[in-house]
Amino acid sequence: MNNRIFYTKPSITELEISYATDAARNGWGDQCYEYINRFEELFKHHLGVQYAIATSSCTGALHMGLAAIGIGPGDEVIMADTNWIATAAPIVQLGAKPVFVDILPDSWCINPELAEAAITPHTKAIIAVHLYGNLCEMDELLAIGEKYDIPVIEDAAEAIGSVFHGKRAGSMGKFGTFSFHGTKTITTGEGGMFVTNDPGLYEHVLTLSNHGRARGQTKQFWPDMVGFKYKMSNIQAAIGCAQMERINDLISRKRDILSYYKTLIEFFPTVAINPEPSGTTNGGWMPTVVFQPETGVTREQLQKVFKSKNIDARVFFHPLSSLTMFEKQYFNVVAWDIPNRAINLPSYHDMTKDEQNRVIEFILRCLNV
Ligand SMILES: *Cc1c(COP(=O)(O)O)cnc(C)c1O
Repeated sequence: MNNRIFYTKPSITELEISYATDAARNGWGDQCYEYINRFEELFKHHLGVQYAIATSSCTGALHMGLAAIGIGPGDEVIMADTNWIATAAPIVQLGAKPVFVDILPDSWCINPELAEAAITPHTKAIIAVHLYGNLCEMDELLAIGEKYDIPVIEDAAEAIGSVFHGKRAGSMGKFGTFSFHGTKTITTGEGGMFVTNDPGLYEHVLTLSNHGRARGQTKQFWPDMVGFKYKMSNIQAAIGCAQMERINDLISRKRDILSYYKTLIEFFPTVAINPEPSGTTNGGWMPTVVFQPETGVTREQLQKVFKSKNIDARVFFHPLSSLTMFEKQYFNVVAWDIPNRAINLPSYHDMTKDEQNRVIEFILRCLNV
């Protein structure tokens, strides 16, 4: 049996199809925002926040949120060197500078001590990215934010289902952002969400999201500021509503898949997998294994073995500071080291135990056991 194992794929049922069909057939005119409003309500309720705005992407949600808190030319925003470029791009687009700091060796998320050390008079925000479903040290980051009066923002694109001491990822910072790209735990094809508990910030981003037209503005075609156009369509939101009705099932499958990998991997102390410290829940978006240096296992070897077995092998994020448009930060030693001996493992709702066993078998083959 050599069928391809995808690293991820969405779970689309008759429910998603029926809602999307209904939106395409009836969701116009007076009803053109119905699914959007419902999707925002369902998401707010799930997350335990007061305000949510559906967007066309997580990147767009970040762009508007950062603009609304006043990030601009000359400002610095601290974030982990290990991440997808989507979190850094809006900072650059606003004329500010992303400051990349090293990650913790166990959670692969931002190192709070180094984040604090990177603060300068130009620092305007710290972005906590919950990598692969692993949670940042939120207590420490929020305390640093308070001490220096700097907002802490959560990019929770990869952390649907992750919970930090009773609070869901994305609900703890000044604002949080999510992605519903086809690879994420819930999907609308493309899409995102901006969430906050700050009423003023909500109004500001709502206005920005609608080409600068304020909610109370009665004059037609009268923007009050230059804004953005990052809105989600009603048809995408219809798919999102169906996914939200199934969210507990979607999250628990992700967690089950991670947990099954964990039970097998934990026999091998030289291989680390996504941690779940006490008091936290890992949403399990992307199971990831990191081989200890003494194993000699390399990314290239893992890619070769997986490829030959028709299993998708997604590499651990390259440090952002290694990309040509940024300055190399070689002193971020953990962020520069881990990707060389790590790989993301396939995980999707309908994945079978046999498929997981096949993945594990080839991981162990790399270890020569
Ligand atoms: C996927 C992802 C994004 C980007 O999401 P889009 O919806 O594609 O803009 C941003 N940040 C992180 C951490 C992501 O994983």
